[in-house]
Amino acid sequence: MKFINSILVKFLAYFPKWMVKPFAAPYVAGVTVDETVKVVKKLNDQGYTVTMDILGEHVRSKEESYRIRDEYRNLYDVIEKEKLDSNVSLKPTHLGMEIDPQLAQENILSILDKAQEYDNFLRIDMENSPYTDDTIAIYKECLKRYDKVGTVFQAYLHRTLNDIKKLDSDKFNFRICKGIYRESDQIAYHDKEVIREKFIEDVQFALNGKGYVAIATHDIPLIDKIEQWIIANNISKNRFEFQVLYGVPMGKRIKQLLTKGYTIRNYVPFGEAWFDYSIRRLKENPNIMWYVLGNIFKK
Ligand SMILES: Cc1cc2nc3c(=O)[nH]c(=O)nc-3n(C[C@H](O)[C@H](O)[C@H](O)COP(=O)(O)OP(=O)(O)OC[C@H]3O[C@@H](n4cnc5c(N)ncnc54)[C@H](O)[C@@H]3O)c2cc1C
Repeated sequence: MKFINSILVKFLAYFPKWMVKPFAAPYVAGVTVDETVKVVKKLNDQGYTVTMDILGEHVRSKEESYRIRDEYRNLYDVIEKEKLDSNVSLKPTHLGMEIDPQLAQENILSILDKAQEYDNFLRIDMENSPYTDDTIAIYKECLKRYDKVGTVFQAYLHRTLNDIKKLDSDKFNFRICKGIYRESDQIAYHDKEVIREKFIEDVQFALNGKGYVAIATHDIPLIDKIEQWIIANNISKNRFEFQVLYGVPMGKRIKQLLTKGYTIRNYVPFGEAWFDYSIRRLKENPNIMWYVLGNIFKK
């Protein structure tokens, strides 16, 4: 069944967009900001906090990077105006990293100025390994200007614990995730159990240190282990949060965490680049197709 699902998802990538849209709907809040605001308000009403992300990566021109910078700056205005409980996440290559890291830094600092204007927060996502050093460098540059900024570390990279150790401070705020890109054996772990162990190690190091950690995973046994450790070690709830991608089915577990008083943040992507993102999500979990089809037929 899994094999058939995977083949079907591969075919979906060649379908017209209007046919793929129902499959994308669970993962993407909308194409426009207005559509997305409605989704964010709904999540806020249910008790979830949010991080909004404009879909897209690897812009090829300076002009395009400026356009995205301005869209992100505008997003902070919208969050303020609509009184959303949300911060913002962005990808450095969407702001020009592939063209020139200096360009990405200038764009990100300009977005950070806007975050600061509203006392909001900015998260710099982590992309594949050619960008790791430059992303950390930009994050450090941002920290010099404003505290409410964070980045992301990937448990599958051999270097991660060392990077975290170097950055530990009471201003350090990072999201830990397993890592989504294809990386070589030379620099990354591929064994699922090892990645889980590293993930736990990273969380434990950070929570034994001074920083704040956003624990981003849908892996319920992993969440269970981390929660047990957090309780056993009496870690204060204001030192961490859990994060999930909008639309990924989590059963009852995430609601249980919410009921226990933990902060749960939904990563809510939106924008015109929804197609590629959704195909990626479906490739990760082809079973979602049947879930979507079920919903369509129930309607
Ligand atoms: C809030 C958030 C932010 C992230 N930011 C980054 C980042 O900046 N850089 C980066 O490299 N990676 C990022 N990721 C992705 C992350 O690295 C993993 O690739 C992804 O979360 C899958 O790993 P998992 O821990 O959920 O466990 P898995 O064992 O892969 O998944 C657990 C279960 O959830 C389902 N599932 C997991 N992910 C999805 C999905 N996307 N769609 C549908 N079903 C899914 C799986 O089918 C499985 O049943 C982020 C993830 C989250 C939750």
